[in-house]
Amino acid sequence: MADIRIAQDTDAFVVIDVQNDFCPGGALEVPNGDEVVGPINGLTSQFKHVLLTQDWHPVDHISFASMHEGRNPFEVIEIDYGAQVLWPNHCVQGTAGAAFHADLNVNAAELVIRKGYRQAIDSYSALFENDHSTPTGLAGYLRDRGFKRLFMAGLATDYCVAYSALDGRKEGFEVFVIEDACRGIDLEGSVDAAWQQMTEAGVECIDCRALGG
Ligand SMILES: [Zn+2]
Repeated sequence: MADIRIAQDTDAFVVIDVQNDFCPGGALEVPNGDEVVGPINGLTSQFKHVLLTQDWHPVDHISFASMHEGRNPFEVIEIDYGAQVLWPNHCVQGTAGAAFHADLNVNAAELVIRKGYRQAIDSYSALFENDHSTPTGLAGYLRDRGFKRLFMAGLATDYCVAYSALDGRKEGFEVFVIEDACRGIDLEGSVDAAWQQMTEAGVECIDCRALGG
């Protein structure tokens, strides 16, 4: 029994970064990341409006540990816009790793928004880059389209999903994160920390069943 009735004209389903590099065998593997594909495809068939995000980096992106002499992946450094986790090279523009998971239903998507394409700044969030002030344009798009509630799922819970959800709240949207259609990276408790932040910001944690899935 569904707790939440989808308002088909004003709800948007935002699918975050379901790309090969975040799935098992990928360059920045999220444990069991591919397990989100089935639930997300199920949700995609329930929503009228579906949007996808795609992490999309130049080959020399600042978030890559390989660009910083003597640094290793998962170390944190200070950049002019704040703390930045260094990642293995991932989601390089045009590569197979940056492509969506082969089983993801991408045909229903009305918009694919790419992020992280500027060399000198990372973008976890679908709405703002990591300086928290450079907009991706998605908030304006969502407002122009008349969307009021955002339902989010994908990879990874503690980074791109959480940052997108928090920015969605900041921009005045009601935000629901569908927990069982997300997987996290979990660096030093980052999944718990992200959920705490999201809950404090008014993001609602739901599961697929709440939508009747
Ligand atoms: Zn990235």
